[in-house]
Amino acid sequence: MSKLINNKDLEFLLYNVFNAEQLTQLPRFAEHDRTTFDSILTTAERIATDYFAPHNAKADANEPQFDGTHVTTIAEVKDAWRHFAESGLLCARHDYAEGGMQLPSLLHMAANSFFMSANPSTAGYPFLTSAAANVIHAFGSDEQKAMFIPAMFSGRFSGTMALTEPDVGSSLGDLSTKAVPAADGSYRIKGQKMYISGGDQDITENIVHLVLARIEGAEKGVKGISLFIVPKVMTHPDGSLAERNDVQLAGLLHKMGYRGTTSTVLNFGEQDQCVGYLLGEAGKGLMYMFKMMNEARIGVGLGAAMIGYRGYLASLDYARNRPQGRCVTEKGPDSKPINIIEHTDVKRMLLAQKAYVEGSLALCLLAARLVDEQEAGSDGDAGILLDLLTPIVKSFPSFYGPRANDLAIQVLGGAGYTREYPVEQCYRDNRLNPIHEGTHGIQSLDLLGRKLWQHNGKGLKLLMARMHSTLAAAAQKPQLGELVSEFEHYLTLVQTTTLKLGAAMQAGQVEEALANSAVFLDMLGKTVVGWLWLEMADKALATFAGSSNAEDSDFVAGKLQAAHYFVRWEMPEIELQARLLQRFDRSCLDMQSAWF
Ligand SMILES: Cc1cc2nc3c(=O)[nH]c(=O)nc-3n(C[C@H](O)[C@H](O)[C@H](O)COP(=O)(O)OP(=O)(O)OC[C@H]3O[C@@H](n4cnc5c(N)ncnc54)[C@H](O)[C@@H]3O)c2cc1C
Repeated sequence: MSKLINNKDLEFLLYNVFNAEQLTQLPRFAEHDRTTFDSILTTAERIATDYFAPHNAKADANEPQFDGTHVTTIAEVKDAWRHFAESGLLCARHDYAEGGMQLPSLLHMAANSFFMSANPSTAGYPFLTSAAANVIHAFGSDEQKAMFIPAMFSGRFSGTMALTEPDVGSSLGDLSTKAVPAADGSYRIKGQKMYISGGDQDITENIVHLVLARIEGAEKGVKGISLFIVPKVMTHPDGSLAERNDVQLAGLLHKMGYRGTTSTVLNFGEQDQCVGYLLGEAGKGLMYMFKMMNEARIGVGLGAAMIGYRGYLASLDYARNRPQGRCVTEKGPDSKPINIIEHTDVKRMLLAQKAYVEGSLALCLLAARLVDEQEAGSDGDAGILLDLLTPIVKSFPSFYGPRANDLAIQVLGGAGYTREYPVEQCYRDNRLNPIHEGTHGIQSLDLLGRKLWQHNGKGLKLLMARMHSTLAAAAQKPQLGELVSEFEHYLTLVQTTTLKLGAAMQAGQVEEALANSAVFLDMLGKTVVGWLWLEMADKALATFAGSSNAEDSDFVAGKLQAAHYFVRWEMPEIELQARLLQRFDRSCLDMQSAWF
């Protein structure tokens, strides 16, 4: 087993749960087959293992430095970037004609999982670059595409997303960065952006910032926001470099985790000379950025899942090799100590981690599969379902990934708390994920306040239809019958609760209905992941039915045990959550600032 992921699990998810090979029937992916898919995964695993994993701890201990003029990162980050760029993975999903591989999102997500497990900080640079290039690709003019995309896809330029300002994070509609039209058709950008990941570094020749700003005189709020391409170094139409643009690094931020990625405060237009190019139409900036953000949100979910996965595998390895204590029925001092994995409480912590991280990975791959069905398969329903699930795909792994890392530390005991073992870094790195790309609270409002009701609630109906199809298949298997009934009980509670909240919203009780939105997000997230556990259990039984191989039977038993754990240990909380939501509990809503 690789230390980055359980390859058997990934293979099972791709080929048996999400039918990756079926995607090759779509014209866009017709040139692919299992051999090409596997070879891309092998390449990703090799690069992640050889060039990303080895400096994960070193980059954490040696943060990028800023001497007032230049930023310095450790040499290994540049080497990793070069290998990643040379592999073609920066533009893997694009057309062959553009140098891409026309890779399905499902396979791309699977390839990315190795990098997120190996070294999420260094992976941040290429992942942000691909996402930024994709926005220019989707909405830029031909001239803008020619100027920036080849350089970004080849790894000469990197990309960032510059939304947040010192006073404006969650509420982007209030942002104050300004754009003033210039005589040559470009704009002069002025303002400060904060927390910009990869906003400066010494890895690439140039950095292409995608900056949200308000054109002078544009209306207040979201509709007045436009998106601009702002290169750090001005660029000739053929992509060659010209003079420096007026973008200055004000400073680096020092973080709890993700220390290998620079977090920057950037000043745009200190000299009133910052050139920006309007991307697409004025006033549609946030809509364009949402394309990038939705992709980024699924990416955050994957990062959280994989940092959790890495910690799980590290703690599993430790527990299998650490002798300590004796079985509860064997107290004799002369008896041999057992490895801690034999203690039931340690098994509990490992099983919880397995349930969270394998469930989270399945969730992210489901999202990727829906992207393929929507984009390459032109299936509008898949797009509607993806839209509904995106806040969950971002939030469930971000909440349960750090929980898994917390348990990993506990499994290691004192060793887990030291920097000699990797799990404390996993925890620190993962703690970012519920914060960036829309906080947990913002995701919950997006889900309950907006996504659920779009298209007349069609997303939820599509989700229920998929769940019922799994339940019907699983109910045929004697090993799963009881679990199916238990799951159905929780599903009914979730449906009833959702209807009540919907009725309250329609009756104008918006504040009451949204007061406990984070509880709803968790409840629906658990239901979706519980469904995926049943799906995995069902598919594991079907896939390995006739196998006499011990590895296969252990794999199936592990999936069944984790499905049991999830439904029996995690889903019962839905009872409490449904009660709280259905009574429109006002404990938090009524609390006053002065009462704290
Ligand atoms: C390491 C790191 C990397 C980042 N990378 C980038 C990047 O590359 N580009 C970029 O543009 N930004 C980036 N960010 C910024 C990040 O997206 C913001 O920090 C995040 O959106 C939250 O904004 P804020 O920090 O201003 O917090 P605030 O918006 O002030 O939120 C503080 C708290 O209040 C809650 N809250 C706020 N508004 C509401 C509301 N309406 N209803 C309920 N609760 C609310 C939030 O949920 C949160 O708990 C990064 C941040 C970090 C820490």
